[in-house]
Amino acid sequence: MRILVTMLVCVATAAPAATPSPPAMPQLDASTRILVVAPHPDDESLCCGGLVATARRMGAQVAIVWVTSGGGFRLDAMVVEKTVRPKAADMRALARRRIDEAQYAAQALGVDAGQLFFLGYPDRGVLALLLDHYESPYRSKYTGADAVPWEQALNPGSPYDGANLERDFAQVVERVRPTLVLAPSPYDAHPDHRASGILAMRVLGARGEANRVYFWIVHGGRAWPTPRGLRPELPQTPPPRGLQLPWVPFAVDAPSREAKRVALRMHETQLKVMGRKMMSFVRSTELYSPRPVAASDTRCIEALPCRPEVLTEEEATL
Ligand SMILES: [Zn+2]
Repeated sequence: MRILVTMLVCVATAAPAATPSPPAMPQLDASTRILVVAPHPDDESLCCGGLVATARRMGAQVAIVWVTSGGGFRLDAMVVEKTVRPKAADMRALARRRIDEAQYAAQALGVDAGQLFFLGYPDRGVLALLLDHYESPYRSKYTGADAVPWEQALNPGSPYDGANLERDFAQVVERVRPTLVLAPSPYDAHPDHRASGILAMRVLGARGEANRVYFWIVHGGRAWPTPRGLRPELPQTPPPRGLQLPWVPFAVDAPSREAKRVALRMHETQLKVMGRKMMSFVRSTELYSPRPVAASDTRCIEALPCRPEVLTEEEATL
């Protein structure tokens, strides 16, 4: 008996310290109000389409806010608008099509038309607005616009600067009063994504609601997600850029996977140039982190941008 006790003590001593497991995703029911923060049309489906479709079936309210309208993808404009040298008018035409596609995708996910908010700020300009143009004018080198040009936007005609962007975003948050916000992590490689995550943290933090934000990554590192293509039976793997984050898997059942696939198919302009990559986000899980960055990493909060990486045009566009 004494020997047995000694052995048990040794085992207990030798066992590694238990690491606290991250909290599960909040329960989804009729009292849940979700706000998806999408830097571009298509991010809403890529990051969160499975959770959104599931939440709607559970009776939850879901709203989506698009920070930009996606008019900064020259390669896409060349393909979609059939021109070798896309001009500002071509880029605006592309953005208009992407706004329409986002509405169709939201419908496929079961989101009400009255819960869609287009802010209309410049594609590939969000970080510049927060850093260098918070109170000074900004003009998009892609669309030529220096103010929100879309009539469907929350505040059409708002001059492009960071203060107006933050005001508009805060307006959406106040209108939705979300219990759960799904926003990009500052570890995402795309500057618009990083900046949109910081914007969400700033606005929700000012309301004392920072703990309502869960984070996702779409630009997770080259070749991720792997394998490429539609493999809905596979779980999603953690992105290389976010390995230190405490990822919480959300199980996406078959009906929600199918809704996500259909929603992604609505983004025809994007499918033309990166369809296989987009379909590799249709998996049996989606990954969310209750933390924006690793607990040991304060640099991404204090100094933007963090983890700079040169992206190809395809990688920089989703
Ligand atoms: Zn994006």
